[in-house]
Amino acid sequence: MASPASETVPLQFEPFTCRVEVEFWFDLERRKLHEYKDDVSPVAVWGSYATSSHAAIPSFVTLGVDAFGSCNALPFHFPVEGTLVNTNTMEELKRYDRRRLLEDAGAKIWESITTGAWLDNPGALTQFLLLCFADLKSHKFHYCAAFPVLLPAESFRRRGPPLSIAQVFNDQQQRALSEGYQALRGLLPDQTSPLAAAQVSAFVVSLEKATEAVQVHPVSVWKELSGTEDRRVWLAVADPCAAATTAGWPLRNVLFALTHQFELEGTVNVLCYREVPGRHDISHSFAMEVCVSKGRLLKEGATSPPCAGWPADNKLKPVDLSPLMDAEKLSNSSATLNLSLMKWRMLPDLDLQLFENTKCLLIGAGTLGCNVARTLMMWGITRFTFVDYGKVSYSNPVRQTLFDFNDAREGAPKAQAAAQACRRIYPAVQVGSHVLSIPMPGHPVDAKRRAAVSDDVAQLSALIEEADVVFLLTDSRESRWLPTLLCSKHNKLCVNAALGFGGYMVMRHGVRTEAPEQRLGCYFCNEVTAPRDSLSDRTLDQQCTVTRPGVSAMASALAVELMAACLQHPLKGAAPADKEHDDATSLLGLVPHQIRGQVDNFQQHLMYGRAYDKCIACSASVVEAYEKQGFDFVASVLNEPELLEELTGLKAVKEEVDKLLEGDLGDMEAIDDEDEEWEM
Ligand SMILES: [Zn+2]
Repeated sequence: MASPASETVPLQFEPFTCRVEVEFWFDLERRKLHEYKDDVSPVAVWGSYATSSHAAIPSFVTLGVDAFGSCNALPFHFPVEGTLVNTNTMEELKRYDRRRLLEDAGAKIWESITTGAWLDNPGALTQFLLLCFADLKSHKFHYCAAFPVLLPAESFRRRGPPLSIAQVFNDQQQRALSEGYQALRGLLPDQTSPLAAAQVSAFVVSLEKATEAVQVHPVSVWKELSGTEDRRVWLAVADPCAAATTAGWPLRNVLFALTHQFELEGTVNVLCYREVPGRHDISHSFAMEVCVSKGRLLKEGATSPPCAGWPADNKLKPVDLSPLMDAEKLSNSSATLNLSLMKWRMLPDLDLQLFENTKCLLIGAGTLGCNVARTLMMWGITRFTFVDYGKVSYSNPVRQTLFDFNDAREGAPKAQAAAQACRRIYPAVQVGSHVLSIPMPGHPVDAKRRAAVSDDVAQLSALIEEADVVFLLTDSRESRWLPTLLCSKHNKLCVNAALGFGGYMVMRHGVRTEAPEQRLGCYFCNEVTAPRDSLSDRTLDQQCTVTRPGVSAMASALAVELMAACLQHPLKGAAPADKEHDDATSLLGLVPHQIRGQVDNFQQHLMYGRAYDKCIACSASVVEAYEKQGFDFVASVLNEPELLEELTGLKAVKEEVDKLLEGDLGDMEAIDDEDEEWEM
């Protein structure tokens, strides 16, 4: 019967587990959405391990916030190179050829062994595979991790009992070992290289029999040190396991590599070196004698070893980040998901950041304003401001989609109620509101109200100046005059939507371009008369907007889409007007000047017109008069709109304009919409 010292038992290894930090998943989500998209090619990632701090905690590889960066590892942590495969669907994850992935990893390890490359970088023998599916909608992940090991034809066996480090080395020798190991890490030629830790994840410990001196060496000098009676040598591995007599996972491939490299037959002394980070304590290390045989590494006739490493149960682990996420952030990331997918699948060059940065001013918070705001949010435009003077009335909530019965009961100011509704829908919006009346030509200002109206003009001018895009969504012709003038002065992209009973007109006002003759017209460029009070002395049916219900939603959506196409055009607001049969000039297609549609025949047409140099709202003479005289000019126009016709010279050329109107250019006034909203 064999003595206990010569008995052999199969060597036990504790498998690695994978500990994936929350930051890793968030980073993966971001990369999937913006970088990998539907590409499922394997991606290199880094994890790290250290000696587990407690025997009850199984050794693990951590994937943290740095996983996608380099192989940086903290002191006494060892980097592990990994391969990430992130599938596009759960089905793909379940069907994925794990065997193949593992074989590829095994082949890489085997190559490192057969070429001897592992001697300079034993860390390369420890690898991991992470196969996962990220459900970006729900922030749920499923994953499975493998730690590939080469399987010898005959398992490694331990001879005799394991010995604690105190049974092998005295205190002085243990100190020499600990210091020697740290020196080895520090003495490597490239100390700053993050691979330094991986290069010493396996090493050699020698004990001179004559002097009892303990020294630590790189694993590459094994051959020179071993095979003499004068010294004992140990193959040492930085061991992640904390269980008393069980070795951690990295030893398996290191033993395989050493046995193959140096054609070992017999036994090797192995030291499982354990130094818990920050504790300067190696007392949990242990040594043992392991039976190895180069001749029994590979099965007869085989040229490479098989590889194992997926967990036995093959189960996918679920991770749900949604409870960890701030509800508002969850709402934000979910809301932008569709846009990111649009960019990913349809429009890789779509500049979503541009939309995120765009500030819009919505003049009018009625049916058009409400729907424009909703469509802006759909495009990820979250910075906008409502301007409206009205209050929510009982007739509004059904048609004006941001209001409800309570707003009407409270008579809430429309601008504020609309802003609050947007915040309720999507807390990420930075929405402002101004209860502000738009001064209108033909609505005279008396001396008493002069100062207040002057303030309104100044405030409106400041709001337009701050905005990138102005939506003109009021319900009367005269209420559009001052904003049009101010947009011209500040050279802002102005998108104008107007409704008729069964039709709509959506247009963008031209901004100044390098070629003034190319400038596109504004809402008033085809007008031959100055706007007047169209609201007083009207019956109820004349005062209220009477339109087919769907028309407003159509016009609002088109107004935002027109803005979107315009912003994605290289020239932005200065983009030339595309005609119906032109090729697309913007990433999003055509960038027309005007869109006119009718619901009764479901037809839509694109139209365009140049800016008119005698326009009563956007022409140079009007803008100059405003710049020179400021509010005095506005006040005189409010009191006497006819001044505009004289100022611009329109009066003199009315005949000419009349002729122009007989042509194809449309009559915008015909589909102007009317409402009490801006009545003063
Ligand atoms: Zn004009």
